[in-house]
Amino acid sequence: MIQALLDYYRLPANLVGGISSTPGSASGVSGFFQFGAKNICYGRNRSGVAVDVRGSGQFDASKDVRRDGTTIQLPFEFTEVIENLRRERYRRNMNPGRTPFAANALVRRLYYLFREYLPISVRRQLQRAYFRGWKELPFPAWPVDFTVDILHQEFLRLLMEKSGTKKVPLIWFWPEGAPSCLIMTHDVETRSGRDFTSKLMELDASHGIKASYQVVPEERYKVPDEYVQHIRARGCEFNVHDLSHDGELYQKREIFLQRAKKINECVKKFGARGFRAGVMYRNLDWYDAYEFSYDMSVPNVAHLEPQRGGCCTVMPFFVGKILELPLTTTQDYSLFQILNDYSIDLWKKQLDLIRKKNGLMSFIAHPDYLVASKARGVYELLLGHLGQMVEREKIWMALPGEVDQWWRARNEMKLVQKGSHWEIEGPHCDRARIAYATLDGDRLVYMVENDS
Ligand SMILES: [Zn+2]
Repeated sequence: MIQALLDYYRLPANLVGGISSTPGSASGVSGFFQFGAKNICYGRNRSGVAVDVRGSGQFDASKDVRRDGTTIQLPFEFTEVIENLRRERYRRNMNPGRTPFAANALVRRLYYLFREYLPISVRRQLQRAYFRGWKELPFPAWPVDFTVDILHQEFLRLLMEKSGTKKVPLIWFWPEGAPSCLIMTHDVETRSGRDFTSKLMELDASHGIKASYQVVPEERYKVPDEYVQHIRARGCEFNVHDLSHDGELYQKREIFLQRAKKINECVKKFGARGFRAGVMYRNLDWYDAYEFSYDMSVPNVAHLEPQRGGCCTVMPFFVGKILELPLTTTQDYSLFQILNDYSIDLWKKQLDLIRKKNGLMSFIAHPDYLVASKARGVYELLLGHLGQMVEREKIWMALPGEVDQWWRARNEMKLVQKGSHWEIEGPHCDRARIAYATLDGDRLVYMVENDS
């Protein structure tokens, strides 16, 4: 029932003791409610739900948390609500009656058929028309949504308050006690992007950055063995990007299953471990057909993506056996082409917000667009900013595959009490650090135990 909380912090299981919940309203209907001010939840709630996100403020579940002896009673299932947000199940109730671009098969097919032949100015106009009004979308929050992360914090805080616990040990999010984590990824869309890979690796390296390259295995361009080896020889990572990148991956279950099989074969053939779908399309309920280790197709807030929604977290999370590394910043394409913004202001703002929550900062930049000097100039500014930030704050700059390995190891670790202190046991536990959550007034704060 609160497994999500235990997993998020890797808490000792006995620490939060007796908790019960009776979420089902008479009809068992899912809807929107809040947990404390402005923390939007989606799921079943005994104290009531709204059909629309804008009505969620009428139902604050935190007011219905009761203490009965040693048991804390909740009006909803914490793990259910968290999963509904991460897996974007709340989307079912958003904007009913409005067909999104991505769901309209004919429009999408036409767009994909003719995209290559449309002048850029027309393409841009079509896209801007589609994205008009994105700023008014009430949920998830722009430019980064932390609902899932704040819900964990608020829930732990409430449990500590109700049970009179002052200090709770947890396994810190990142290795060696790093305050946050950064990954750079590049999706290779066309042959010109492929041919620019070498230069981009040099550019990244000059700022101390190593990236992962997601490469389309079928139809778009050739992927010679030397190309794969070249990426790896430079210490970068090679991943699979969609199959043919035609925007149809999740359209029909049957076709999807055939394609998933081919994707699994490509992943094996290239010895890769990561995947990203074309255009950030996704259907997390179908991920059990995949055999790669981690996915990077879920945006934190997807207002500027053809498939709207967002997983509302800046932390990795498991979808069955697959680890999801969410995209937590705006893509270069959206920034330049949709927002017409050639500065790094939005990126800096997102980075500041994510660092405050100790989260994963993840980027997608496309070699295809960085060929143009105007876009590349902005990207170089970003690289400079990232390089300084990593150095100054001892941020963990990692390849996505390293984050995947770390998060899996952390997920196997356990906090064990040895007399009056705690120890971490499990694979690679020497890299892990204990942190403590404490209450500072009505705030939850973390203190990481360092080596000294
Ligand atoms: Zn792509």
